[in-house]
Formats: sequence, structure tokens, C-alpha cells
Amino acid sequence: MQTNNLTKKYLLDYSREEVYPFVQTLGMESYRGDQIFKGMYVQLLSDFTNLTTLSRSLRDKLNHAVTLRTLQLKEQTISVNEDTVKFLWSLHDGLKIESVIIYKGKRVTFCISSQVGCALDCKFCTTGKMGFLRNLSSGEIVEQVLLMKQKAKRPATNIVFMGMGEPLLNLKNVLKASYILADPEGLAFSQKRITISTSGIAPAIRKLADSGAPFSLAVSLNAVFEEFRKKIMPISKNFPLNLLMKSVHYYISKTKKRVTFEYILIRKKNDTKEDADQFIKLTRDIPCKINLIPCNSDDPAYPPSTTETIQWFADYLHDRGRTTIVRQRKGWEIKAACGQLYANNETKIGKKISDNMRKKDKNTI
Ligand code: SF4
Repeated sequence: MQTNNLTKKYLLDYSREEVYPFVQTLGMESYRGDQIFKGMYVQLLSDFTNLTTLSRSLRDKLNHAVTLRTLQLKEQTISVNEDTVKFLWSLHDGLKIESVIIYKGKRVTFCISSQVGCALDCKFCTTGKMGFLRNLSSGEIVEQVLLMKQKAKRPATNIVFMGMGEPLLNLKNVLKASYILADPEGLAFSQKRITISTSGIAPAIRKLADSGAPFSLAVSLNAVFEEFRKKIMPISKNFPLNLLMKSVHYYISKTKKRVTFEYILIRKKNDTKEDADQFIKLTRDIPCKINLIPCNSDDPAYPPSTTETIQWFADYLHDRGRTTIVRQRKGWEIKAACGQLYANNETKIGKKISDNMRKKDKNTI
């Protein structure tokens, strides 16, 4: 658990089970933990001043020892038709991250970050250009949701780990945050409506399956042929497609859940009949849903497929028995769409994946 730079304990880093013994260390009885947890997640308190179920002296004691907020809103950007809102947050150490709210009909999706930047350097993704600066703590992940909940027009129906970072490279904190968000005594967010995404860290997909975590999994596939996948997603050099698909099969056999495949469509690169046929082949016997997303990259080397091609691709997969959804571009003009998040950390560029790192990761993940 981290302390913020004010040296107070950051209580959002604690699960409910950890709050009980912690309050005892402050001389309170452990049942106070329930009142405190409810204050944090039901009343959405930013400090304990108004937690009137506690005496003033206990509130003062808590406020002295802990903090409930370390993120500061730096910027809020709203799309023209107001269906997407992007937030730029500053963390306790001055680094910055972004998160997004997307409204679509009755669906309200909170897209949250798991890392500051990302090491995986996917070629179509702006976050990848930041490199990796650090993992977010579970509390920093949870806090994004709490703060957006206070800003949102309607309650969230879905939480997706599709903001900055590769969630499976911060699995421990991502899982802890997800359990806190789903805690029935707190926010009580639906477990299956929390989606953890990955660009294909095969061993971590197995680990996730073994953990028995009740959350949903999305895999960013983006290419169905190895050569092109390696080109646009360097992580594929470490965990090639065949290894990735084996881990997906393992995940399904272990969890009995279906997975979502995310596939960004790049004009004439991965949207041909050959690609569609290979997609069908790869996903044979895999209960799955496929999200097709027009590529949002600024790089002219990765233009989006045409609307007609996207629809053709979707129909082709659908006619062959795959559940396929075409995702509309949302928040593109405010750089809040998939693969567009970027926070300028005073020109600080973090580590990007290199051949050395890949070799090392292979042994350590
Ligand atoms: S697409 Fe995801 S995994 Fe790839 S660089 Fe961007 S944030 Fe990282």
C-alpha cells in the first residue's frame, strides 16, 4: 500500500477486510470499519468530516491519519454531442492519467486506466508513445471511478479497463480494485460488467483464469496473421498468436465464460476476405463476442477501414455464426476514443518494450 506524499495512509488502497484491522490500529472497534467503508463508497465522502455516525473526535482522528483523495482534476473535455467526457487527472506524484465516460443509449461506460502510460508500444496507440512510467495502485484505480461517478449524468452500467496501460501487467492491483468496486457493502458494481482487457499477455490470461476472478475478459486481437500482429503489436513477438489463442482456450475451459475480441480495422491491412476467413478459423470453438472498431490512429500508416468495409467485415463474421458489434467512433474529436489517450508528463517518456525487456518478461510473468 502506498502513502501519498502527505504521508497519510491512502484508505482507498484498502479492501473492506483490510479496513477493519486498520481502524483497530487507530484505537477504534473493528465494527466501525463498516461505517467507514460505507462512508467511502455509499456516501462518496472525500474526507470523514461529515461521517456523522462517528463522534467528532473519531472523525478528527481519521482525518488526521488517512486521505481518501489523491487525484486532482486538471482538465475535463466534452465531445460536441456530449456523449463522451474525458478527464485528465494529476496523481499524488505529479504524473498524469486520463479516464473517459461514454454514453450510448442506456449504456454508461467508465473507461479507466491501470498504468501511467504503457510499455507495449502498439503502433496504432497514442498511449504507447508515452512509454511506461508506473503502475497505478488499486486505490488510484478505484478513485477514478468514484470521481467520475460524482461527475456522470447517470450511474455507470459498465466499467472497462481500456484506458491507459496493459491491465494484466498490473494484475494484482487491477483485481484488488475490481473486487473493491464490486463489494456488496460499497459500490456493489456488477462483477460481470467489469471488463479487464489485455493486448495478449498469454501467461497472465492463464493466471486470471486460475484466480477464479468473476470479471469479464476482453482480448485486443487486432490482427489474425502473426506477421502483421508482430508489426503493429510488438508484444506478439513475446507471446505469439498461437500461444495467445491457447491461453484463451484455457481461460474458457476453466471459467466457462465467453470472451470479447476487440479488433481495430485498418484499411487494406487487416480487413480483407483473407483476414475475415482467418478470423473465423481462429475463433472456431471459442464462445466469443467480437467488437469491430475503426482505427483511431493519427498515423497515416494506419488509416481506418471504410464504413462499407467495416460493415462487410461485420456481416461476413456474423453470417458465419459470430456475434459481432460495430463500435461507433465516440469522442474522436476530443482524443478520447480507443487508443487516443495521452497525458503529457512534462515530456517524460517511460520505458517501451525492447527485445531485452521481452526476454525478461517471458521469464517473469
Ligand atoms: S493499445 Fe493498450 S497495450 Fe497497446 S500500447 Fe495502447 S494502452 Fe498499451
